[in-house]
Amino acid sequence: MKQIWDIVIVGGGLAGYVAANYLTNTNLSILILEKGKSPGGRARTNNMNGQYFNLGPHALYKKGKARYILEDLGIHLNGKTPNLGGTLIENNIEYAAPFSPLGIFTTRLLHSKERMEWIAVLWKVMSIDPEKLAKQTFQQWVNQITQSKTIESLLFTLGRLATYCHAPERMSAKVMALHLKNAMGGVLYLDGGWQTIVDQLHNKAIVSGVHVQPHTLVKHIERDRQQDPFKFVLSSGEEILGKYVICTSGPHELIHMLGKKASLPIRDFFAQITPIKGATLDVALSQLPNPKKLFAMGITEPLYYSVHSTYACLSDHTKNAILHVFKYHHPEEIIDGPRVKNKLEQFLDGLQPDWQQHVISRRFIPDITVNQRLPQIGDELKLQRSKTEIPGLYIAGDWASPHWILADGAVSSGKQAAEEIILNEERKNSANYDGRVPAI
Ligand SMILES: Cc1cc2nc3c(=O)[nH]c(=O)nc-3n(C[C@H](O)[C@H](O)[C@H](O)COP(=O)(O)OP(=O)(O)OC[C@H]3O[C@@H](n4cnc5c(N)ncnc54)[C@H](O)[C@@H]3O)c2cc1C
Repeated sequence: MKQIWDIVIVGGGLAGYVAANYLTNTNLSILILEKGKSPGGRARTNNMNGQYFNLGPHALYKKGKARYILEDLGIHLNGKTPNLGGTLIENNIEYAAPFSPLGIFTTRLLHSKERMEWIAVLWKVMSIDPEKLAKQTFQQWVNQITQSKTIESLLFTLGRLATYCHAPERMSAKVMALHLKNAMGGVLYLDGGWQTIVDQLHNKAIVSGVHVQPHTLVKHIERDRQQDPFKFVLSSGEEILGKYVICTSGPHELIHMLGKKASLPIRDFFAQITPIKGATLDVALSQLPNPKKLFAMGITEPLYYSVHSTYACLSDHTKNAILHVFKYHHPEEIIDGPRVKNKLEQFLDGLQPDWQQHVISRRFIPDITVNQRLPQIGDELKLQRSKTEIPGLYIAGDWASPHWILADGAVSSGKQAAEEIILNEERKNSANYDGRVPAI
């Protein structure tokens, strides 16, 4: 007899591991299938000759869902909060970033009337009820808040920092407001990188009896009849059976795995989901030519720079500096890799002259998915539940949470999928159970 797993989780990133860890409280058998050679997905950290490179700049929101849920699971999050200071750059001129009280009162970017308006705008962002913005794009909300072009571009810059999204005309104002509030609560740069989260989640899962199978690509998810288990067809040709599936791949991969035969009424919505993307230049230097320049963003140019190792331990050699330069892509942009690389290097030239002479390691990724879904107006109505119209199939991942994106979306949706399955099992096992698959 072939083993039938109670729960098969497709994907060993944050969402998959969080779901698995919440499910270990049950006596259900759990298998994680991960196509990569090691766990972690986009939260993995590469050790490049003793330099710890997250996959692009990674900051954990201190007031975000992910932090609370991970701590609830007993995950230790060691790291430091970067200062709010830094520089904003427009037409090659540097200005103090008005993201801290000192920055607001010293920056030459704002004249005195705008300074007061900016304070009022920040206060408005902090105190707004995001529900009131459910029918607006970020662009429309900003147009209501201010007439000033400078303040508009400051809000877009802050929005990019909080969500990585560079499409205010498409981004839901409600989701943006939630994440702006989150970002204003500060972030943590983690010692050892985000791999430390992944490793702890992985070890806890293994100790609790979860099976993890890396190097395993799920090609198809099939089921002939509702009462049958799901059949997972792997790229090796092997087949695995499971009663429940939590799919943490992106929405497009999910549609592909299900094939045309599966009836998924929400397929059209999944098919039109657009990701948030960017380009990253991750660099390890033996020293920083200009140790005072630790954080900068472009105002009109959608660029980011931060020296993460100033706050987090990211190298075996304490003097080395690990920094990330990032470009936020617009969803309709056609990416010219060499041009983007040039742009990022030039941005770094301006901040750390002669940095090329101190390079230990570097990595450039021209087009990487930061979040699987760019949140648009009304998306949340279709993502209220992890369960789908296919009984037994649940979704999780940074695209699958109604209100949260990035790690907060991945982690909270992983927890939600686990809780919905636990509830489903409890109902099934209750004395009154009549044999039908209960709907949550
Ligand atoms: C450059 C960059 C910067 C970021 N910065 C931040 C930040 O500052 N703050 C923040 O909160 N978040 C940040 N993020 C986002 C964060 O890393 C992700 O949201 C989070 O890691 C996503 O977790 P996940 O489990 O949803 O997806 P993933 O990590 O993508 O995990 C899904 C897993 O499923 C596997 N998989 C997919 N299809 C299959 C299949 N068919 N068979 C088997 N396995 C499969 C994949 O290999 C992957 O490991 C950043 C991301 C990037 C790329």
